Amino acid sequence: VGELPSPDLSALDLSLRAILSTAFDAAIAMREDGSIAAWNHIAARMFGWTSAEASGRLLSELIIPPEFRARHEGSLHRYLRTGVARSLGTHIEVSAMDRAGRAFPALLSTSELVHDGERVFVGFIRDISVQKQTEAKVAEVSERLELAVRAHSIGVFDADPETGAVHWNEELERIYGYEPGGFERSLPAWRGHVFPEDLARIDAEFEQALRDRASELTYSYRMTRCDGAVRYIEGSTRLLYDGAGRQFRRVGVNIDVTDRKTVEASLSETQAELIHVARFNSLGAMASSLGHELNQPLQAVANYIAAAEMALYRKPVPGVETAAEALKLASSGIERAGELIKRLRRMSSKGEMKPRRVDLAELLTESASLALHDARLNRVALDLAVEPEADKVYADPILLQQVVFNLLRNAAEAMSSTGGKIIVRASLKSAGEVMVEVEDSGPGLDADIASNLFTAFISTKSDGMGVGLSICRTIIEKSGGRIWASSDQGGTSFFFTLPRTARALDRSTPAGSAAI
Ligand code: ADP
Repeated sequence: VGELPSPDLSALDLSLRAILSTAFDAAIAMREDGSIAAWNHIAARMFGWTSAEASGRLLSELIIPPEFRARHEGSLHRYLRTGVARSLGTHIEVSAMDRAGRAFPALLSTSELVHDGERVFVGFIRDISVQKQTEAKVAEVSERLELAVRAHSIGVFDADPETGAVHWNEELERIYGYEPGGFERSLPAWRGHVFPEDLARIDAEFEQALRDRASELTYSYRMTRCDGAVRYIEGSTRLLYDGAGRQFRRVGVNIDVTDRKTVEASLSETQAELIHVARFNSLGAMASSLGHELNQPLQAVANYIAAAEMALYRKPVPGVETAAEALKLASSGIERAGELIKRLRRMSSKGEMKPRRVDLAELLTESASLALHDARLNRVALDLAVEPEADKVYADPILLQQVVFNLLRNAAEAMSSTGGKIIVRASLKSAGEVMVEVEDSGPGLDADIASNLFTAFISTKSDGMGVGLSICRTIIEKSGGRIWASSDQGGTSFFFTLPRTARALDRSTPAGSAAI
């Protein structure tokens, strides 16, 4: 580069230099004796020797790694002797070496020319080490990619939405249930597998992405595999646009996530079951031990009542009618308590409820008279409003009564020192659902337990067991409803919902039955 020409250049040297200087590659002219006749500036840069330094040196010593020198010299001599050359006129890959001794792969093409009776070989050399490295890297990367694609069953596609031309790999064919090569490579063939409603949705998602000039899109859909099985697919696509902003390519992947989905679903189902079983077990255990404990005194009370009735019957006294009436009420109360215990025990052991169409206004009135019997003395008033459309619900009346009873007792207890009004409202929540609200004007919910209200054995009362709301939740949820509380603007409101009809219950509880 920039070196001064030697003053004693022959005509050959001059014309060779002129030719070599126009080359795009390193260009070297070599005489029959193997010495360098000319060397262009690209060769100077590639090998690190100036043209002056290279001139006259043996080419094999200057730029051929030692281990290849003998071979180079051998083939030159053979050619000179026999006129047979392997490399002349073609491109061959060789190993070259620069001034620092670094060997590198090169592409060599040679030709021969005769000047004034002297034979000269001209070689064009291109350093292909970067190209080689890139090739090796690409091969390595694609091998790894191929491994990953196989190991994770990733379907890969490349589509031109304009022409409809697509390419996809064997994994994608396998995902759709085909043998390699069996899945017709066309967009309509793919669309034929996708659930129509999902297809409409992802078409819209694609259109939106194109309007936004998005470069990427992820989506999911269901498809029917070749053998009729329904599979869930997750897809991710790169959207490529041309200079005019038109989409010309979609490259992406498809993954079958059905198994993952199934595992997830069964996991959360199991979890829900476990939670439910745990809650139910503790409640169940308590219900049956309570039932056991209560059965004996209840039985005793029933016996005493029967004895008292008999005594009255044998020896009537003034006012006997009132007394007999009171005893009758007492024994129906006992009966109801017994029935309730039986139901609770049955519910916890066999998991059964007996839902039917219930007249809500009647049930609320009855429950209130039981729950607020003594509360009225403490200036607790009741306001009951049932919208006509909300008058019928589908539930087990005895268990529902238990819920209302618990809520009213809690409300009355919250206002025991201050007095106040309990408002009970029933209204339509939706076409299939009735919502009941029990509102009091008490002190509101204790902040410490507000988030655990419905958890069993949590109470702020010195004599409280903390199971009332837990039982309420179990009953309401098993009836196909929800229960929640709020105490935003002073006082407390409890809400619960119930299905209006058996059909509405079927819709709200996928299990589709009243069984617990
Ligand atoms: P218990 O009445 O035995 O404490 P519950 O499950 O019925 O058990 O209620 C749990 C707790 O919820 C009560 O101790 C009380 O702190 C709170 N609570 C329930 N209803 C009300 C209400 N209407 N106003 C204020 N706090 C309430």
